[in-house]
Amino acid sequence: MAINWTEAQIEEVVASVIKSLGGAPKETGSWDATQYHGRKLIGIFEKMEDAIDAATAGYKAIRAMSLEEREKVIAAVRDLCRKEASVMAELGVAETGMGRAAHKTAKHLLVADKTPGTADIVSQVKTGDYGLTLTEMAPFGVVGSITPSTNPSETVLCNSIGMIAAGNGVVFNPHPNAIATSNYAVDLVNRASASAGGPKVLVASVVKPTLDTAQIMYRHPAIRLLVCTGGPGVVKSVLSSGKKAIGAGAGNPPVIVDDTADVRKAGKDIIDGCSFDNNLPCIAEKEVFAFANIADELIASMKENGAYQINLEQAARLADIVLVDSKNPETGIVKKIVSRECVGRDAAVLLKKIGVNVGDEVRCIICETDFEHPFVQNELMMPILPIVRVKNIDEAIDLAVKAEHGCRHTAHMHSKNIDNLTRFARAVETTIFVKNAPSYAGIGFGGEGHTTFTIAGPTGEGLTSARSYTRYRRCVMSDSFRII
Ligand code: NAD
Repeated sequence: MAINWTEAQIEEVVASVIKSLGGAPKETGSWDATQYHGRKLIGIFEKMEDAIDAATAGYKAIRAMSLEEREKVIAAVRDLCRKEASVMAELGVAETGMGRAAHKTAKHLLVADKTPGTADIVSQVKTGDYGLTLTEMAPFGVVGSITPSTNPSETVLCNSIGMIAAGNGVVFNPHPNAIATSNYAVDLVNRASASAGGPKVLVASVVKPTLDTAQIMYRHPAIRLLVCTGGPGVVKSVLSSGKKAIGAGAGNPPVIVDDTADVRKAGKDIIDGCSFDNNLPCIAEKEVFAFANIADELIASMKENGAYQINLEQAARLADIVLVDSKNPETGIVKKIVSRECVGRDAAVLLKKIGVNVGDEVRCIICETDFEHPFVQNELMMPILPIVRVKNIDEAIDLAVKAEHGCRHTAHMHSKNIDNLTRFARAVETTIFVKNAPSYAGIGFGGEGHTTFTIAGPTGEGLTSARSYTRYRRCVMSDSFRII
């Protein structure tokens, strides 16, 4: 039996769901970051200084634990992450208004299953005429981690596993628009730690993260390493902090499809990747360069797989909505930035803004544009995919490299021509290069290799894991300990 609900009834149900999730009013940034369903979250502090002290105590406790004990804590984090994946996914969507709960659930399961633990920490030995030299990967101490709104709890959990495996304590300064979701994940790590014999507070966060609390974190002597996952502004700020920093910044991943590709599969793969969590992952397909002789077939395949094509006039109207003017207070220069009201929204919601009504079967909006179009040039982080026709591989590589803007983050290609694949990979110099698969294969989802939600292109750690959060220490034994 169909139920015909009025808008008022729907709003009432949404409000009651939001309330039951532990959140307060509907606008982002005003969620209760200290409790969930009346349960007080562990490891959440009013003051950043207190959070750092708690993480320092956590670091001291974990230093005293054996590797086996540390791995037990990590196993408990994985276990809770699996069990509460959908809770965090729903909370993330409700709090930020961005993404898709089913996809966020899948991302949490990926974190639980494929984030490396202590096995990632490997010692090296060199022996020779003068004895034995041992190199070990040691913790930094307390890591200060800045996390984004796009994968909030996923990043907190993935970073926590890696940083704890390396023997560190962690303090987070999460994105203010995703503070309830991020702090839920902080609490989860602490609950797991306590249940597995670890410290009650191993990782910590604050009630109200701001740029000021980030500055306190940068300057505090106990913080030995800063890890920043976010856009260009925040990466620049940590890299200017004067401390060792890992920066995982923005991208604008291009896709090339040449005329040797399995074009039907490429169309499906690209829409699967581009629409995953409404394009929030920084690795997701952002613009396509298709050989002109296969472009029609590619677009047809995309449409069969949930894409809705708009024309250039509609694209111009949509661009005026999803990109807004922003004035730099210091320089007075005005530039276009993405509207926070549109990032990570469903394709149907975005289409409605230009008067097109479609159902949830539409996963992605596609549009044929030229290279200069703002959809090509900007990292939109929403399911809008521009397609540019190109004559040949030279033009494809030239334009795709330019569209990536030197972020050296992620690029994709669908081709069976190994020369073309190799040429593009060499030219674009990205941290991740995915061939003939959806973008998420690059972070271990349907592809080989470990996962991470902190992809450090600017500072070179690449797909971070426990070893990225260590410092190398050498111990030399002169003239002894060789057994040959
Ligand atoms: P954002 O840049 O708006 O915010 C990231 C974090 O930085 C937040 O906690 C924010 O409060 C904080 N912040 C912003 N400016 C700051 C400053 N000057 N000093 C201190 N803290 C500051 O990011 P977002 O919108 O949540 O995430 C989207 C961006 O992050 C995209 O550009 C995306 O590509 C990038 N991202 C990159 C990766 C990666 O692994 N490379 C992963 C996720 C997101």
